[in-house]
Amino acid sequence: MKVYKFFSYNFKIFKKGEKLFSIEHRGLNYGDGVYETLRVYDGRIFAFKEHMERLKKSLDVVKINFSLNERKIENEIANLLKLNRVKNCAVRIVITRGNGLGLPPPKGKPDISIMLVDIDKKIEEYQKRGIKAILIENPRLYDFSTRGAKTINFLPNVLGSIEFEKNGAQEGIFVTKEGFIAEGTTSNVFFVKDEILKTPSLEIGILAGITRKFILDIAQEQKIPFEEGFYKKEDLLSADEVFISSTTREIVPVIQIDDKKIGDRRAGSLTLSLLSAFKKKVLS
Ligand code: PMP
Repeated sequence: MKVYKFFSYNFKIFKKGEKLFSIEHRGLNYGDGVYETLRVYDGRIFAFKEHMERLKKSLDVVKINFSLNERKIENEIANLLKLNRVKNCAVRIVITRGNGLGLPPPKGKPDISIMLVDIDKKIEEYQKRGIKAILIENPRLYDFSTRGAKTINFLPNVLGSIEFEKNGAQEGIFVTKEGFIAEGTTSNVFFVKDEILKTPSLEIGILAGITRKFILDIAQEQKIPFEEGFYKKEDLLSADEVFISSTTREIVPVIQIDDKKIGDRRAGSLTLSLLSAFKKKVLS
């Protein structure tokens, strides 16, 4: 993953490599912050409003007092797109509680970083051919008080990614201690059984993915039957189709989970039709 050369810190432009943070930065010491990843298609930011809403919710959950100036953020992204001369990329926005060691946190000034990140070239191939995933039993992830917030406390997800890579897979799917399918390390999970589209309920404590929401909207528009619920490993492993969704990967078919082949080990037809509808939506 590459961050483009010019980025923004507290609405000032910096070049990669310039020193920014104090050793007392709370992002560095405590992972004390929240973030968003957005996608830019052909110079236009996709689902900006939805991402700002989720960012506000995350700030609220972790009690960081930062008033979001959406217009200013949008302008800064446009500015970075121009400076870096890119039209298709991801945007990472990170807001932390700022500087100052200690708990409870001293009254500091939150800070905001905005950077452009390139899109992995392999994604297109994954969308066509599908990926392998593994199940990760992770009892702690959904007990946290930061449920539902997109925080930079990302260690369970980082560890999950180390595990799936070790297993020659491209995603890890978390299973809660109660045995419910939750989400991927950086994605939401969907499956199709007997022509019904199914995805884990937000009540499990998973991230309310913005791509997930768009997919459910498409299902509604196209009258594809769907449900959100509490599903077990066996439901997923016996599915006709499985796919993951995220801002950067959009929709990627899953053709194998652990040693179990899904469908006929090819991208499923409903998965591909949802991907094509989603691609139309992002460009409309
Ligand atoms: N769950 C987790 C844990 C994630 O990190 C992501 C990626 N941000 C998602 C789900 C998918 O969310 P979105 O569609 O908003 O990118």
